[in-house]
Amino acid sequence: MFKVLTAFILLALVSCSPLSAGEIETITLTDIVRERDTSMLVGASEKDLAKYVPDGKLKNQILAFLVKVSGNEILFDAGLQDGHVAAELERSGFSPSGIKTILLTHLHPDHFGGLVSLDGKAQFPDAQIYVSKPEYDYWVNELKNENVINALALYSGKIHTFMFGDEVVAGVKAIDTTGHTPGHTSFLVEAGGQRLIVAGDIIHFIEIQLPVPDVAVIYDVDPAKAVQSRKFLLDYAALKNIPVAGMHIASPNIITVRKSENGYEKY
Ligand SMILES: [Zn+2]
Repeated sequence: MFKVLTAFILLALVSCSPLSAGEIETITLTDIVRERDTSMLVGASEKDLAKYVPDGKLKNQILAFLVKVSGNEILFDAGLQDGHVAAELERSGFSPSGIKTILLTHLHPDHFGGLVSLDGKAQFPDAQIYVSKPEYDYWVNELKNENVINALALYSGKIHTFMFGDEVVAGVKAIDTTGHTPGHTSFLVEAGGQRLIVAGDIIHFIEIQLPVPDVAVIYDVDPAKAVQSRKFLLDYAALKNIPVAGMHIASPNIITVRKSENGYEKY
């Protein structure tokens, strides 16, 4: 029994990194760990590249987070349609069919793709899905994006839209961080005096976007607005000393930041 328990604990330590903060407990679900190159960046000077990305390689991950807020389990984003987030959930002791609430930061495939199982079914059959109204309108009504429409169709009657400032579910408020996409949302989680920001794609590459927050990425629909939202959110996180969980932030995935000379730094 002891052996089994030890193995379980070791496995849990390897496959996820829980951050326990009283009423809020966060489990990081890793979809992919990878490296990117500087062609992903927009607006980085030669000097900044030489200083912050000397080998030209950028660390990057695709992540989702399971956050327990006052006993309720909320899945933030779902990763790619590769089954990895569902498998990570299982490894952490949760069943995908037991997930009741999914909040989406935005509708890029590395965030909503995992709503669809490898065989094209609803990966989380009992989940209610929440996404901001501007994000839904952009992909579904304006672009008529087939991948988004088909994925959401698997959750017919269970798709809910919200506005910025809304308390989407108990203890979770939607923050306007548009720019990366027209309805991109970060979430402020609050319970029992504890707080966490689930940032979404506010940062892709911490090596350079923390010290030089003016650097955007090629995936930003409106790079100038994305830069503005990054500074707004990180200013707030630094001022209030709130941990930030980002869907592409390289290990340790959840960071605390403070202001530095021209931007921010981890501490
Ligand atoms: Zn992304």
